Amino acid sequence: MYSANWFRNTPHPPSSPRLRELLRQVLFYLKSKPDENEVVPKFIAKAINESEVSVFTALRFLERAGVVEPWFGVFCKATDVPLGMFPTLEKIPKELPCDVCDEQHFRDQSYKVEIVYRINRDKLEGFDPQAFAA
Ligand SMILES: [Zn+2]
Repeated sequence: MYSANWFRNTPHPPSSPRLRELLRQVLFYLKSKPDENEVVPKFIAKAINESEVSVFTALRFLERAGVVEPWFGVFCKATDVPLGMFPTLEKIPKELPCDVCDEQHFRDQSYKVEIVYRINRDKLEGFDPQAFAA
C-alpha cells in the first residue's frame, strides 16, 4: 500500500494524544521564533511549561521528520554565552576563546556542552500539523 518513499520521508504518526499535544506546542514555539536558527530544549521546556524529557521526546520525533537536527552547543559556564556549535562531540576543541570573559575556556572547567537543535525552516514550514489530527 505505502511506497518505500513514504516510509523514508514520513515518520510514524505520533501514537498518543499526549505526544500530539506536545508536538503541537513545540511546533508553535518554533514558529513563534522566526529569527532563531537553533533552540535549547530547556528553554522550550520553560516556555511551554513542560519537562525537559517531554520536550526531548517531541524533538526526537521532529528530528526523524527532518525538522530539527541535534548539534552540540558549547557555552561559557560563567555567563551562558554561546562559544560555538559542533556536529559531533569529537569536533569540539579542548579549549575555546570567550569574548565576554576575555580568556580561554576549557572543557569540564569553564565551558559546558549542551544538545542544541538546529531548525530546518523549510521543513518546519512544510510540516503539516494536521498529520496529528486524531
Ligand atoms: Zn566566558
